[in-house]
Amino acid sequence: MSNSSTALHDLSVAELAAQLRERRVSAVETAQHFLARSRAQDALGAYVALNEEATLAQARGADARLAAGTAGPLEGVPIAHKDIFVTRDFPSTAGSKMLAGYQSPFDATVVRKLAEAGAVTLGKLNCDEFAMGSANENSAVAPVGFEAPAPVRNPWDQSRIPGGSSGGSAVAVAARLAPAVTGTDTGGSIRQPASFCGITGIKPTYGRASRYGMIAFASSLDQAGPMARSAEDCALLLSAMCGPDPDRDSTSLDLPAEDFSRSLNDSLDGLRIGIPAEFFGDGLAPDVRAAVDAALQQYTQLGAQLVPIALPRTELSIPVYYIIAPAEASSNLSRFDGVKFGHRAKHYTDLVDMYKKTRAEGFGDEVKRRIMIGTYVLSHGYYDAYYLQAQKIRRMIADDFQQAFAQCDVIAGPVAPTVAWKLGEHGNDPLADYLADIFTLPASLAGLPGMSVPAGFGEGGLPVGLQLIGNYFSEARLLNVAHRLQQATDFHLQRPEGI
Ligand code: GLN
Repeated sequence: MSNSSTALHDLSVAELAAQLRERRVSAVETAQHFLARSRAQDALGAYVALNEEATLAQARGADARLAAGTAGPLEGVPIAHKDIFVTRDFPSTAGSKMLAGYQSPFDATVVRKLAEAGAVTLGKLNCDEFAMGSANENSAVAPVGFEAPAPVRNPWDQSRIPGGSSGGSAVAVAARLAPAVTGTDTGGSIRQPASFCGITGIKPTYGRASRYGMIAFASSLDQAGPMARSAEDCALLLSAMCGPDPDRDSTSLDLPAEDFSRSLNDSLDGLRIGIPAEFFGDGLAPDVRAAVDAALQQYTQLGAQLVPIALPRTELSIPVYYIIAPAEASSNLSRFDGVKFGHRAKHYTDLVDMYKKTRAEGFGDEVKRRIMIGTYVLSHGYYDAYYLQAQKIRRMIADDFQQAFAQCDVIAGPVAPTVAWKLGEHGNDPLADYLADIFTLPASLAGLPGMSVPAGFGEGGLPVGLQLIGNYFSEARLLNVAHRLQQATDFHLQRPEGI
């Protein structure tokens, strides 16, 4: 790079944006650097689409605005998007054969907002099919450099999963293939891969970011958020991503865009951190527990106080989520019928046969499993027994959080019960994946903001994330709490060997 000894891919978003503004490096040069790295590291399987021409055209636009003094806050900063966001310049597949080769005529709102802030899109990132998964092992799409679907590999140990469903997103940041990326979190898909890959990610309050152009999985839970190395960088992206979108997403909150960086440096003196007993039970691996405990001790040194709290329905969040999310998915995925867009079976006898063959060919096993569960729990005779019950308990889970927040300002605990597991380790046992979501699902069901912050390393030198959960609209506070830890520790700056 031009004027500094630090490689471009080691700069934070904040540093890179400053260098671009000072014209010490150009947006084109920056984009080329990350594209070259992404190609060189394609064995990790992070990207499913690159389009150098489109990226460089965007970068040239950024350079022109930088020269003209009309630059946005992220002008020229390259980012990449989870392939669940539709994009005009890149194909959008949601990790599914059903959308192979699909080209959207428009950009998702989050994509558009980041572009308006000046960000340059490097490409699209691998994910579980329709964001269903916890290991990124459910993608049906071949990563860049591969002929056939291949697993996304955790750069800390390439025999391990990166987490999911935003696995490609987490790997791109951890391997320095992009300074920051987008992800989506329905039941933990930003927090869990962030934890497994040693990076920082935040899922904002449900409704903060528009879902327009985010290929729908479970609409009452789906939420977009940024993933980057630090809380400071996440705050920069989140500020650009959020804001109302009343004409396009009726659940987007009618709250003005905020500067989520505004309180990063606030003191933690007197901060009450709630520690839910249910997050520290027998199922928590000792190595994860040790790292989380050490981070909590660090917080006491920073002036915070640990308060025991209860989230008594934590265990129920698994059955509740795995009823509600499939129910919504079965409805959302009915649009993939071979008529409107995406895959269509080549040979069929009549319309119904075309629907059947198209869906049988286009969807993977996990997606089919969810459609069947969802259709079952919504069907006459079972709706009251399953779906309605689940909705009631969902409300109780949300109420439990409100009781907890009467005693504390933020809640902290592990993101996942273990570090990243081996590729294929859960084999044909989807329940093993579902159970690993236990600590991320409660905040999702309640619609609360949550984040994962690197908190050290466990077994095999694998990263461990600390989960921070805040009350509604407390993103700025959460980012502040994460940032102060990152000023006192350097876990988020560590890099996988060979990266
Ligand atoms: N692992 C959860 C699932 O498979 C959550 C996925 C997500 O947040 N998109 O549904």
